[in-house]
Amino acid sequence: MNRDIFCPFCTNQLVRQNDNLYCEKGDCGFSKVVQNLMEEALSKVDLLKPIDSILEKFNYYCPNCRGKLEVVEEDKSFLCKNCALKIRSGFGHMLREYHYHKMENL
Ligand SMILES: [Zn+2]
Ligand SMILES: [Zn+2]
Repeated sequence: MNRDIFCPFCTNQLVRQNDNLYCEKGDCGFSKVVQNLMEEALSKVDLLKPIDSILEKFNYYCPNCRGKLEVVEEDKSFLCKNCALKIRSGFGHMLREYHYHKMENL
């Protein structure tokens, strides 16, 4: 899959390095598990829909459209209110535990 994927930490467009996703702005690579979660989620949503405002301070952003991801209480998955992308639970935990993303511009 070669769709654009945006950084869930900062909304920068991720690049691929040897098939691994990487955020240049945050100097942050992504684990295979997280990458697979994002790609699985992206494969189930429509293409990018426009969003008005981004980069309010918030935990995580949609890798599809850069909208805010919100936690769904019932199953602890992450849902984007803008494009309806859904990422399985564990995503936020894995991002926190296994990634270090520079945040000086946020
Ligand atoms: Zn980033
Ligand atoms: Zn979205």
